[in-house]
Amino acid sequence: MTRKQWSMLTPSLIFHNGCVHTVDPHDTIVEALAISNNRIIATGTNEEILAMAANPTKQIDLGGRSLIPGILDTHAHAVEVGLFLKNLFCNGIPSIKDLVDAVAEKVAVRPEGAWVQGGCWIETQFSENRMPTRWDLDPVSPEHPVVIERIFSTCVANSCALSMAGIDRNTPDPAGGTIERDLKTGEPTGILHRSAKALVRNVMPTGTDTGSLAGSSVAEIRALAQTAMQAFVAYGITGTLEAGVGPDMCRAYHDMHKSGDLLVRTSLMPNWYGFTITQNMDQMDRLIGEMGFYTGFGDEWLRLSGLKMAIDGGLTSKTALKSWAYLGGDPPGQVPLRLDLDKLDGWVKSAHDAGWSVGIHVMGDIAIAKAVNAMYQAHVANPADRRHQVIHAYYPSADSLAKMKEAKLVAAVQPAFIYGEADGYPNLLPENKEESFLPLRTYLDAGVIVASSSDTPSAHFNPFWGMYAAVTRKGMQGHQLGTREAITAAEMLRTMTINGAYMTEDDHFKGSLEPGKVADLVMLDRNLNETPDESLKDITVEKTMIDGKFVYEKIGTT
Ligand SMILES: [Zn+2]
Repeated sequence: MTRKQWSMLTPSLIFHNGCVHTVDPHDTIVEALAISNNRIIATGTNEEILAMAANPTKQIDLGGRSLIPGILDTHAHAVEVGLFLKNLFCNGIPSIKDLVDAVAEKVAVRPEGAWVQGGCWIETQFSENRMPTRWDLDPVSPEHPVVIERIFSTCVANSCALSMAGIDRNTPDPAGGTIERDLKTGEPTGILHRSAKALVRNVMPTGTDTGSLAGSSVAEIRALAQTAMQAFVAYGITGTLEAGVGPDMCRAYHDMHKSGDLLVRTSLMPNWYGFTITQNMDQMDRLIGEMGFYTGFGDEWLRLSGLKMAIDGGLTSKTALKSWAYLGGDPPGQVPLRLDLDKLDGWVKSAHDAGWSVGIHVMGDIAIAKAVNAMYQAHVANPADRRHQVIHAYYPSADSLAKMKEAKLVAAVQPAFIYGEADGYPNLLPENKEESFLPLRTYLDAGVIVASSSDTPSAHFNPFWGMYAAVTRKGMQGHQLGTREAITAAEMLRTMTINGAYMTEDDHFKGSLEPGKVADLVMLDRNLNETPDESLKDITVEKTMIDGKFVYEKIGTT
């Protein structure tokens, strides 16, 4: 239908007197918007839109506040988020004192001896700027074993958990792991690195109640995704991409969709090469060869996105494949690779030719160049419409930028990492690598399509923390990575909406507020255009609508 034809319908609901960010190709801002059932039918001035009202059109006065397209968190791990929310989600907790209070609350409602488990902290989020220890946790948990995971391969355990695991000052470090010890007394601090975590994990009960996904049923996975989605909609997230799924997760999402319980529109990204932990090699080969499905299969609620691959590890865990050294030199030994680089080009080409886009996790500059080259070559040989994702993509070279632009590769980036981790970068990165970290300005100026996401639970899913970080380049405790790579809030909004929809091949029906698109939209608590940069992180959501229905309304709003 044409714009004119849509506007002939009778609206069921009109939003007026606001700042409606359509995120259309010209970033048009209008005063009012009309929907009919689950579709947007018109946008325009108050006068134009209110003239469409007829009995029984409802009206909502925005009072000058912003209405934006639903946020698309196009790289997230909802099931894992659900697991942490069910136990203890530590992302965004601003101090160790607050963390201890949160543990105390969990302890209070669990029987003596029951495990308390949580995760997703990083020391740079705490105003104390250090890792928590057993001595922080012990006063509130004398009789409960407590284990809280850091982001990436470290955890903290309290004294009760350490003693159940038999860890004391005489326990030797296991191969491939470290039991951190107090420098003066030699007593374990509670911090366990890498394989040392298994000492505690081995004595823990399994099951989603104790924070373990291992062995969980499809029904349990489904319940966790549901928990996460309920949290997402309170932050305006109307669409997500589950980055890395195997058969059980696919089934859980399909079950949810079939019974009408899928709260947030979801794209699924099947695990492929680089994820041998979740699937065996035979299955991976067959995934594209025998199924006959490819990217875009599904409907407006549940769709297949690209295949997920991974080359290297993480930046803060010092496992990025890169050409330069961290401050203080790099740990000895080579970075472990997650796939056979010699086969990468062939795998990407076979997926590309079969109709799949691929998303490749890349942290270091060498890894980015390898991924971009593979995608670019596939594109040159067969210039079909594929929307490959260069995931994380912190340090692109000029050559990679040019190829990304030409092959329309999407930089799938997480500005929220700046918010959570930037305060630790002065201890990790050479100074010239701080300013150029996650170069959003450079990407946009080079004409590369950027889609922002949170990668939650590695960062918090609050999209306005990501927006704040993209605009101010500041971490939670205030450290700033220069201003050269800063972008505007309006530019960031595009990366959180229409560009994400482009990446998942959904831009024909969602991602902007234009006639004919689904009524997925978010009413903010203020006018985004009048919000000072420093206050972007404080933006909250008043109402979230998906498919024409309110799925979240802040208590106390009308
Ligand atoms: Zn991820």
